[in-house]
Amino acid sequence: MCPSAAAAISGFDALVEAARSCRACLAMEGRRRVLSHANGDPAARVLFLAEAPGRLGGELTGVPLSADQSGRRFERLLGLAGLTREEIFITNAALCNPRDAQGRNRTPSRRELANCAGWLAATLSAINPAVVVTLGATALAALGRLQPHGLTLRHAVGQALQWDGRWLYPLYHPSPRAGLSRPYAQQDEDFRRLGAWLRGCDQQLWVTGSGS
Ligand code: SF4
Repeated sequence: MCPSAAAAISGFDALVEAARSCRACLAMEGRRRVLSHANGDPAARVLFLAEAPGRLGGELTGVPLSADQSGRRFERLLGLAGLTREEIFITNAALCNPRDAQGRNRTPSRRELANCAGWLAATLSAINPAVVVTLGATALAALGRLQPHGLTLRHAVGQALQWDGRWLYPLYHPSPRAGLSRPYAQQDEDFRRLGAWLRGCDQQLWVTGSGS
């Protein structure tokens, strides 16, 4: 199925089924489409959006941000925010693992991100989270492709902002290389502040269907 037709799909299970047969990106042939109930609770009020599944992470396990270095750091950071995987949903701007000619992880191309935007829009529609936490500049830009926000990660990091009828909370990606732009101690503090902000939110945030 083509991602541009994703908007017509209703229900999370139907979306998962449709994404499984996506053939929009030639380079993703044979890769797993990392979208299933393993991504988290489809009724979650908080959705984390990262870049793409890792070769040794989501591609192997089917669970975004798991098993590899980024996944281990993410789990620790999630704990600092006082959250568990069971109460959130995690997905990626590209549902498949992009690799370079040597088989290493690479950043998804602009074309691949544009191709996958339909699945992201349909996922937001199916999950209907009140809060979207973006992890890294690629994820933040992917949201801007759906509905322009004019934000840059450097200026918007750690702020709760309104975007398309939801809360948007931009953070850095938990990959080791993001430590060059945002020191680990500062990232720890970012996640602690996210947790404090979520706990301080009006209870209405946690009522299913209040996201938009
Ligand atoms: S990255 Fe997205 S658009 Fe490309 S093949 Fe995978 S699911 Fe389809």
